[in-house]
Amino acid sequence: MNFQLTEEHLAVQAAAREFAQTELLPGVIERDEHQKFPAEQIKKMGELGFLGMMVDPKYNGGGMDTISYVLAMEEISKVDASASVVMSVNNSLVCWGLEKYGTEEQKQKYLTRLATGEIIGAFCLSEPEAGSDATSQRTTAEDKGDYYLLNGTKNWITNGSTASVYLVIAQTDPEKKHRGINAFIVERGMEGFQVGLKENKLGIRGSDTHSLMFTDVKVPKENRIGEDGFGFKFAMSTLAGGRIGIAAQALGIASGAFELAVKYSKERKAFGVEIAKHQAIQFKLADMATNIEAARMLCLKAAFHKDTHQDYGMSGAMAKLFASKVAMETTVEAVQVHGGYGFVKEYHVERLMRDAKITQIYEGTSEIQKIVISRELLK
Ligand SMILES: Cc1cc2nc3c(=O)[nH]c(=O)nc-3n(C[C@H](O)[C@H](O)[C@H](O)COP(=O)(O)OP(=O)(O)OC[C@H]3O[C@@H](n4cnc5c(N)ncnc54)[C@H](O)[C@@H]3O)c2cc1C
Repeated sequence: MNFQLTEEHLAVQAAAREFAQTELLPGVIERDEHQKFPAEQIKKMGELGFLGMMVDPKYNGGGMDTISYVLAMEEISKVDASASVVMSVNNSLVCWGLEKYGTEEQKQKYLTRLATGEIIGAFCLSEPEAGSDATSQRTTAEDKGDYYLLNGTKNWITNGSTASVYLVIAQTDPEKKHRGINAFIVERGMEGFQVGLKENKLGIRGSDTHSLMFTDVKVPKENRIGEDGFGFKFAMSTLAGGRIGIAAQALGIASGAFELAVKYSKERKAFGVEIAKHQAIQFKLADMATNIEAARMLCLKAAFHKDTHQDYGMSGAMAKLFASKVAMETTVEAVQVHGGYGFVKEYHVERLMRDAKITQIYEGTSEIQKIVISRELLK
């Protein structure tokens, strides 16, 4: 076993840290407060290669491994989880899904621009009545010969109003149940496609979450991804990798809060000494550090499995389940270490605590991760 990161890994990590501290930190509190999408920052992330990190250079990507992606996600998420969710959706759901399962024409037309961040993508599976139970898709895609007629509503879509390309899952043949589901590439300007209201959220408030409505949208047949009926498999396979990104996001939120707690504990005095000198605070920091390290190991192990073409279904689910729990626990404790100052905006930890919660919900709730893990265990 080798726990050593390579020179390349360290360089990616340092570049992401530098970007997060210089470009994302200024204004992060205001963006959260006003639910402002980090448009300029996302543009720069694209220019620096953070939006198509693992895509083959022949499609304008960075050609990096999943470990590099986890390291970068951690650094960006320490500071701004609203920016890192854009990065996660674009990299692990949209770019990866297209590169793995798209046709050469689809890759040339869409992936080459998604990988540079010239345009960003969205992944549209959830519906008002289909969340964890993703098989009960109500959005329909009727086969009309050379096109599909798309009708329905998607909910909670990240990058909902900022994306140009949407990967949409829909039911073509209800009798075939999940084998009758397809995935489509839908473009922003297609007639009948409407972006609904923006959600007013607890956390990741700078991210852009919308419902989407499709009314008789004509989707050309060449925009279907994979064979007829491949859509559900496409969604599940894509989400299996997506979980590694969200696990890394949770890890970053936890380690960001931890770093702030350590710094504050060395500055704040109570009873004549820095609070870091009180054993109760030291023990909190020790627990936080140990949990974060364990979460980091699970994230890197899942990334290693993906990079070495091993099955990463269970390791990805374990990484997400554990890292998101650690994100919640660590951010709550970081607020506690800050006392009253932790409860106000300028110390950042209250925002990290609010941001942590979503990592237990999207791309499969913690309960769904346990279903994935136990299914593997009991095979
Ligand atoms: C901010 C945000 C961004 C999102 N971004 C996207 C996106 O970009 N694309 C997209 O497609 N979706 C997105 N989602 C949707 C997200 O993936 C779903 O909210 C999530 O999968 C849960 O679905 P649900 O909300 O319908 O909850 P439900 O499925 O209704 O679950 C409710 C509760 O029941 C539990 N539960 C359900 N079934 C079981 C079971 N079998 N066993 C045990 N417990 C169970 C759940 O774990 C949960 O605790 C986003 C959501 C949010 C809030």
